[in-house]
Amino acid sequence: MIIAKEYRRNRNGEIARREIVEVECDKCGFHWKTPHYNRIRKTLDTDLCIKCRAKYRAKNRDRHPWEYETKKIKFTCINCGKIQFKNPSYIKLNNVKYCSLKCRDNHLIKEKYGHLERIFDKNPNEVAYLIGLVMGDGNVRKSGEYTVRVGIAFDYTGKWLDMMDTIKVILNRLQIDWFEQPRKHNNCKMIGFALPNYIMEKYEIFYHGDKFSHQPFPSKLIWQNINYAAGLLNSDGWKVRNSFRFCNTVKSIVDSFSQCLSFSKIKHTITHAKGRLDKRTNNVGKDQYTVYIGSKLSVKLKELCKFKLKS
Ligand SMILES: [Zn+2]
Ligand SMILES: [Zn+2]
Repeated sequence: MIIAKEYRRNRNGEIARREIVEVECDKCGFHWKTPHYNRIRKTLDTDLCIKCRAKYRAKNRDRHPWEYETKKIKFTCINCGKIQFKNPSYIKLNNVKYCSLKCRDNHLIKEKYGHLERIFDKNPNEVAYLIGLVMGDGNVRKSGEYTVRVGIAFDYTGKWLDMMDTIKVILNRLQIDWFEQPRKHNNCKMIGFALPNYIMEKYEIFYHGDKFSHQPFPSKLIWQNINYAAGLLNSDGWKVRNSFRFCNTVKSIVDSFSQCLSFSKIKHTITHAKGRLDKRTNNVGKDQYTVYIGSKLSVKLKELCKFKLKS
């Protein structure tokens, strides 16, 4: 109730709306000051202080606050299919389609590169060859959170021009946007393109940076295709008379090469050379593995591969 005092009044004798009045809580006797219009607006019949009001409302609520989520609308994330509950106003306001920002980004990446997955599935030989090249002469760098940038170096002394043409044909068939970069300091050219992480994950070669520390080993889909060996041979391999040799320092790549050859029943031998000590820098070099394929089987390998091998 209002404490009786001299208040400013209007013509009708009522207390002016803007006049600050002193009010007493009907329940606990607490005093507070407020403009009179607050008292005119109030919905309760009694004058209750802020604490008593809160208690009164809590008592008369039809349900507890934590039960409000039953009012929320069920929606399904269009990326991962997770079911979530959100307030109707939130869904309307933000036009929600995803459970999280990460899901949104993943979905947008899939939309941008989604066609790749289909095309990659349709052209397993091209993919195997391409991954062979990447494992051999390629480098993979991180670019953004959802993609990697792949660069493949080509000797540009004119000797391997047709190999570069082959890779361009393959990239075009796989509908990958590629670009060419001349490297001025040495005689090679780079072909670069971006791939989404999930495609790299699909072939189990998602890594970036140093191949030696990551030891990438492509999935079955790749090493069961002989064109993977062709890609590797065309980057890190060479021909001695009629037989092929392949040399690499990364054990997992040599193993996958060997597994790929064995799958197509091409016998080969592997030698292992320990890294040499460099007396000047006192560093021990990396171990080298060399794979030898005899001349008869080299001919067989040539016939099996869809793409032209180094000659
Ligand atoms: Zn009170
Ligand atoms: Zn989601």
